Amino acid sequence: MVKIVVTGAAGRMGRSIINVVRETNETELVGAVERPGYADIGKDAGEVAGSGKLGVKLTDNFEKAIKKADCVIDFTFPEATMHHLDIALKSDVAMVIGTTGFSHHQRERLKEVGGQMQIVAAPNMSVGVNLLLKIVSDMARVLGRDYDVEIIEAHHRLKKDAIQTIRAGDIVGDHTIIFGGLGERMEVTHRAQSRETFARGAVRAAQWVVKQPKGLYDMQDVLGLK
Ligand code: NAD
Repeated sequence: MVKIVVTGAAGRMGRSIINVVRETNETELVGAVERPGYADIGKDAGEVAGSGKLGVKLTDNFEKAIKKADCVIDFTFPEATMHHLDIALKSDVAMVIGTTGFSHHQRERLKEVGGQMQIVAAPNMSVGVNLLLKIVSDMARVLGRDYDVEIIEAHHRLKKDAIQTIRAGDIVGDHTIIFGGLGERMEVTHRAQSRETFARGAVRAAQWVVKQPKGLYDMQDVLGLK
């Protein structure tokens, strides 16, 4: 049984992760952490997640919650994640990090800490997207420089970070890679239909990382795609 603490537990991803942890036989929720001052602190985390009583109360005391954990799953904000990382390092607890938008300095810190604890960090934890990345790299290798490559991504209007993007309504996450050659065009598209896909990937990563040696891993490692 892998004992899991979810941070950002009342957020969109946190609630979905709590529900996946609950229905996965090999995982157990032992802590659900929100930011200090969050209105629902003290309420049952399962009820906050919309799936009924779990017997784990939402807390703002991460240091206490982590004492019972094998792994933290963190989908919060870069600054909060870095704070949790320092505490997880001291407590020798693994981390799965889904937070996006890290600065260069924060990414360097992740690499440094990766030598001292088990971490999976990936900006997209969907199994399908990570498989698509592998397929696309094979396509790029075969097609070579004669094909133009364009990437289009679309997300909901609240997503903070952006590259070449569409931000509209409640789109969960679409990615299209176009290989344009002379006389033909190939398009590979992945559409996430709910956040559950990321939550399932994160819980799979947690089950995997607790059995690995210390290191900084990504979802390609988790799925054995390297
Ligand atoms: P959200 O705003 O709904 O949830 C974030 C939660 O974190 C909030 O409830 C907030 O109160 C909480 N929080 C903030 N500071 C905290 C702290 N110090 N301790 C504990 N909790 C704290 O956002 P979201 O849609 O759930 O996304 C969260 C992050 O995950 C974003 O960076 C997003 O881009 C990323 N994300 C990654 C993937 C992936 O597959 N890697 C998928 C979806 C979202």
